[in-house]
Amino acid sequence: MNRDVIERDVIVIGGGAAGFFAAIACAEANPGLSVTILERGPRVLHKVLISGGGRCNVTHACFEPAEFVTRYPRGKRELLGPFHRHGAAWVVEWFQTRGVKLKSEEDGRIFPVTDNSETIASCLIQAAEDAGAAIRTRQSVTGVEQNPDGSFHIRCSDEATWHCRKLMVATGGLKPGSPMDSLTSLGHSIEPLAPSLFTFHIDDARLADLQGLSVNDAEVSVLGTKLQERGPILVTHWGLSGPAILKISAWGARALQKLEYRFECRINWIPDAAYEEVLQGLKAMKNIEGKKQVAASRPFDLPRRIWERLVAQAGIQHGMTWSQAGAMALKKLAGELTACDFHVTDKSMNKEEFVTCGGVSLKEVDFKTMESRKVANLYFGGEVLDIDGITGGFNFQSAWTTGFIAGQAMAADEFA
Ligand SMILES: Cc1cc2nc3c(=O)[nH]c(=O)nc-3n(C[C@H](O)[C@H](O)[C@H](O)COP(=O)(O)OP(=O)(O)OC[C@H]3O[C@@H](n4cnc5c(N)ncnc54)[C@H](O)[C@@H]3O)c2cc1C
Repeated sequence: MNRDVIERDVIVIGGGAAGFFAAIACAEANPGLSVTILERGPRVLHKVLISGGGRCNVTHACFEPAEFVTRYPRGKRELLGPFHRHGAAWVVEWFQTRGVKLKSEEDGRIFPVTDNSETIASCLIQAAEDAGAAIRTRQSVTGVEQNPDGSFHIRCSDEATWHCRKLMVATGGLKPGSPMDSLTSLGHSIEPLAPSLFTFHIDDARLADLQGLSVNDAEVSVLGTKLQERGPILVTHWGLSGPAILKISAWGARALQKLEYRFECRINWIPDAAYEEVLQGLKAMKNIEGKKQVAASRPFDLPRRIWERLVAQAGIQHGMTWSQAGAMALKKLAGELTACDFHVTDKSMNKEEFVTCGGVSLKEVDFKTMESRKVANLYFGGEVLDIDGITGGFNFQSAWTTGFIAGQAMAADEFA
């Protein structure tokens, strides 16, 4: 064998959440194995560090697997079994037994009590070290080939070559033209890639200078599709964001890509009331608050400045009182409140938590072990798979779970 080839029992490509869980699980389960993580960047766990606004939303406080999987636009069916064995409660315990205390917030998101993602990254690095798994950074894998005996040759951009008996690919969301396209040459199919968890770019006078305002409960739909979601909406410098928008972008990742991110979206600012009910509420204001200015008295729980914009859009002039507002204007205002249409011109991913929809086809992976059904000794975990969740800790949970299962499986069998 070429003396420049570095021999390992197990190699994990990618030093992210899935890669670390795999390497730790493998080395802990079988301490006799040489396990190495190859990471292309200068540091490992980059996404863990920037995640959750620097706090790392580790998982979600939902302990019923059948409910947990409903948060995955892709991967729902395949993740059900794995989450029965290694779900949110298991991952909370995993961190707690290693000294990391976690807390859940009102909306169910779970974070380290330190509110600092460094806590999670340090725990993972320490656990890898304790288990004897090696970490090699600046090792950008450019190609993978399988030998006739089932082992692998792995080439890196600095011309280093590695050899291993079991290989795990945990390289995160694939990008078109990424070096891991060599997966396809190993016989794997890649489901088409599309961004998920993005915000809507909208240029509209109604939103100008309102950045930072949020509505706790609104409904967003994409006209001409069945896409509809409910939740908080946030006005940004560039358009609309917030959990409801992110959710619809995840469920509509493929449909919105087909529309080239140009479409009409409709916001119902009062999702608990139908148009007629809202109109009756506005008409009632004529009797109750007839002398008050429409712009200054809100019958609905909306931020003042958003209300003022909708009032102006309905043609109700500044200073006009409820008793002066005509029937047509009130109808228009009821329309703005329940069916407020915006033209989306693009997607934005500025500082948002985005993930990739698409990746290694789930049909080609055995979710009991995370081993490829096409190539023996090859394993997958994390976002490289055609799995993605909505925001709230679901993306890390699938990375921890699939990484761990792969790690344990790689440690077993003929290595024992
Ligand atoms: C800004 C942001 C915030 C987020 N916040 C959250 C959150 O709070 N909660 C949550 O659940 N999800 C969050 N996510 C999503 C989450 O970070 C990912 O789903 C998760 O990191 C996927 O883990 P992974 O191990 O599969 O991939 P990654 O974390 O992407 O790790 C893959 C690693 O592989 C390396 N790599 C890639 N190609 C090669 C190669 N050819 N050779 C060697 N190494 C390679 C990469 O450099 C990377 O380090 C966030 C995403 C972003 C972008």
